[in-house]
Amino acid sequence: MKILVVNCGSSSLKYQLIDMDNESVIAKGLCERIGIEGSKLTHQPAGKDKYELESPMPDHKVAIQLVMDALQDKDHGVISSVDEISAIGHRVLHGGTTYSESIVVDEDVKRVIRECFDLGPLHNPANLMGIEACEAAMPGKANVAVWDTGFGMAMPEKAYLYAIPHEYYEKYGVRRYGFHGTSHMFVSGEAIKFGGLDPENAKVIVCHLGNGASISASIGGKCVDTSMGLTPLEGLIMGTRSGDLDPAVVQYICNKENRDVNDVLNILNKKSGVLGMSGVSSDFRDIAAAKAEGNHLAEVALDAFIYRVAKYIGAYTAAMNGVDAIAFTAGVGENDKATRKAICSYLGYLGVKIDDAANDVRGKNAVISAADSKVKVMLLPTNEELAIARETKRLTQ
Ligand code: AMP
Repeated sequence: MKILVVNCGSSSLKYQLIDMDNESVIAKGLCERIGIEGSKLTHQPAGKDKYELESPMPDHKVAIQLVMDALQDKDHGVISSVDEISAIGHRVLHGGTTYSESIVVDEDVKRVIRECFDLGPLHNPANLMGIEACEAAMPGKANVAVWDTGFGMAMPEKAYLYAIPHEYYEKYGVRRYGFHGTSHMFVSGEAIKFGGLDPENAKVIVCHLGNGASISASIGGKCVDTSMGLTPLEGLIMGTRSGDLDPAVVQYICNKENRDVNDVLNILNKKSGVLGMSGVSSDFRDIAAAKAEGNHLAEVALDAFIYRVAKYIGAYTAAMNGVDAIAFTAGVGENDKATRKAICSYLGYLGVKIDDAANDVRGKNAVISAADSKVKVMLLPTNEELAIARETKRLTQ
């Protein structure tokens, strides 16, 4: 069974064709600059040379057709006919309060994706375009929506409601949704399997630390709390996003600089985080290099990032009345042993002990805590595409 996984942004389309018999990637690639001059397809078939094509892509329909052509091409293709693709799984950002579970797309699902354009203005329209492009290119095949907000929908009211007048929740769905849901679902499941934990009761904290960063607490794989909110701006300090902040800061900067709210929100999303704090870069490697050269603000940015993660781990341990395992994932979590160790250095009170030799690892499943650590600490690479493919298989088999 072969499943195509599609992740559309407003001007991009990422794809992977996965053979679900052994969960291997047969081909993957990216269409860039869709709707902009200079559109380009990069196609990487497993075990063959990379293929690049510069060709106009006025919209996602044209892009997906070029992907279909590349997948079936006699030189760099991997399938002889579209019939070999059983179904298509789509990453969809926002399912609002309607959907918590992945679902086969029909007209109702498309209506909800459309209704959530306000909640996910950059992603939901692109996600819908991707679905409609696949419907046109592969008529009759099932398309499955896997929601980035799905995992967070299991949060109880006390965790997802903001302390603002209830009418805003009722009228507009203003609540905490959480994002990176596919990653948190995948990694919390892996933590239970790889860590040999009780599937029904394991208390797991997943730290997804990449350019976007979020943290979740789950019991038996069900989300108890997660750090992103109505939008991905809430929670941890990120590459360019501020994370938690007194909302009065927005008004204060608006007044001082004669800016409007949209302007300041743009600053909080794109020019803040470790980039804004350090003035160096949003890339954690650049900041670590600047710190090594004695840049004080780079050092403070890294310290603040680590401190915020440690505070959330403490809060989530309290929320669950304990923690069995902490898992690190995404770019920083999978590659940066110093940051993992620095976060865990705050957790001695939980009986967390890191094994330095075991922590000297990148990008593969590993237990990095010492044998006598009271909490199992793990590195578990995330794989959102595989998680989407598994959901698609489950719903269409
Ligand atoms: P992601 O968003 O998950 O792709 O993660 C991207 C982030 O991972 C970038 O900001 C990089 O700074 C960070 N990253 C990747 N490799 C390393 C590394 N070896 N050390 C520190 N940060 C890293």
